[in-house]
Amino acid sequence: MRLGLLVATALGILALAPEAEYEARAAKLGNKNPKGWLELANFCEEHLLWDKRSEALRRTVAIEPGNAEAHARLDEMRSGKDWLPADEAEAKEAEEMQAKGLAFYGSAWLPQKEAAALKEADRKLVGWALEVRLDTPHLRIYSARPLDFTRRLAGLLENEVGAYERLYGRIWKSGTAPKAMQVFVFADRPTFEKIATATGHPISQGASGFYEGGCRILFVGVTADKELGSPAELRCTAVHEMLHALDHQMTHVNVVGAPCWLMEGRANHFGFGILGRQVLPGALNEPDGTGLLHDGCTSPIPISEVMDQANFKGANQPAYYALATAWVHFLFHGEDGRHASAFRTYLSGCPGKASKADFEKAVGRISDLEPPFREYVQKTLRPSIRKTR
Ligand SMILES: [Zn+2]
Repeated sequence: MRLGLLVATALGILALAPEAEYEARAAKLGNKNPKGWLELANFCEEHLLWDKRSEALRRTVAIEPGNAEAHARLDEMRSGKDWLPADEAEAKEAEEMQAKGLAFYGSAWLPQKEAAALKEADRKLVGWALEVRLDTPHLRIYSARPLDFTRRLAGLLENEVGAYERLYGRIWKSGTAPKAMQVFVFADRPTFEKIATATGHPISQGASGFYEGGCRILFVGVTADKELGSPAELRCTAVHEMLHALDHQMTHVNVVGAPCWLMEGRANHFGFGILGRQVLPGALNEPDGTGLLHDGCTSPIPISEVMDQANFKGANQPAYYALATAWVHFLFHGEDGRHASAFRTYLSGCPGKASKADFEKAVGRISDLEPPFREYVQKTLRPSIRKTR
């Protein structure tokens, strides 16, 4: 929390701190201009002001009750004449449809017999018991989890596509959106292990998901330590793996040979930024995921060592993941976002084996960045992680 309302920039010009700028802009908007309030919500996302963001969105719908964008960003859905929290709206719909003898499968409510026949055909296709299949614009999700969990997950992953584009730009590799990607969501560890091994990805201790680039399938399972991962943990895993999938299918970042910190730090940047059904990079709102950061980001391992690791195996693995995540957070959001555009420049020119020299040329000397990074972790990241846990 900043105490002063005014901060001096490097040039000595007085600029408003984000909280103060929010108050000043909010006072001008008053009870009109819903578009202005929506823009102010964008400003809040950029500056990680999450409570103010909700306030700005609430003000938007107070002025314009039918504003669909603001409702969606508040995680609300239309239900008859009302707008309800998305989970509630879907539960209500499911109850009504099931009372009519319908079951959801693919992309529609179908007569139960029809849905059961499709489910049986899919079970033969994938080789394990499904609860539901869900088709969305970018995904086909085969899920052994219940409908409500799967719908929320689908909403989140679809939202992630937009979040990716907002942060990294519209950079489809081929100029067109990729074909629907398949997502497998398991509910028990033996099936997850069996399928993982069969696709050449025997799962290691602690792993709860992986992305298979060759067949474009994203697998979300359970951790090796627990029989079932918590719903929050599974969502965090799914969003993390989806980032790898989007990198592979959409972007300038060449996945093959890209530095591990760059891929894993960015995947957690999204995976830990879950708010309801939205991916808001930088939010640190997913308590299960941020546990890793909480435990690992005070490690004394220098950031240049993390950047050197071709893979994150070995005893220091949790610390490498945590530091890479904190590092990416710093590069995008630290020091009022001062490094974000240079970091993006580095990413956009990122060849498969982007070196530390490439990084230093684009962003700055690592030894110069390390002290403000450590300060950012202590003063900004750690307190906000503690708050969410
Ligand atoms: Zn990963």
